[in-house]
Amino acid sequence: SPTIGVLALQGDVAEHLIALAELDATARPVRRASDLDGLDGIVLPGGESTTMSRLLDVFELREPLQQRLHEGLPAYGSCAGMILLATEVLDGRPDQRSFGVLDITVRRNAFGRQVDSFETDLEFTGLPGEQTPVRAVFIRAPWVERTGADVEVLAAVGEHPVAVRQGRTLATSFHPEVTGDRRVHGLFLEMVRAG
Ligand code: GLN
Repeated sequence: SPTIGVLALQGDVAEHLIALAELDATARPVRRASDLDGLDGIVLPGGESTTMSRLLDVFELREPLQQRLHEGLPAYGSCAGMILLATEVLDGRPDQRSFGVLDITVRRNAFGRQVDSFETDLEFTGLPGEQTPVRAVFIRAPWVERTGADVEVLAAVGEHPVAVRQGRTLATSFHPEVTGDRRVHGLFLEMVRAG
């Protein structure tokens, strides 16, 4: 089974570890550079992207993780994790930095101007298993405002993409780790295995 790390500096780490373990992946937290050794993929969880950005520097993880990502380590980012993967962040804090491996422009807290948190059923392209909508939980979520030529939109709320994929990098604005529906993590594991 593939070994998947979950960036464990802040955020909903435990929920991702459980989701991955339920799908028979070997899931383990990543807190220091040596934890990156032997990974087949990595999850960047939801939480607070500004805090995670700061902690990446404090724990000296930014550079080694940046290198692994740019070498093509498959990655899945949910919510704050999507922000950390993006090439461009709108409404970010001036000091926050992202890895720039997913060619999208995201706007932080984009739905927040209308409503902080909400749930909705989403059509989601390309999921394994039953072709039924995904129950999506949004918590001060970003949306995608621009997608690069190599980026596929897998789900949207109105005109705003909320799930995207570029090669073996996947990102969602919402939190599938909190619902018990494992199909999004299943898709990520399929992407990992395809390598
Ligand atoms: N608003 C958070 C951020 O900008 C993301 C929220 C979340 O991950 N649930 O990082």
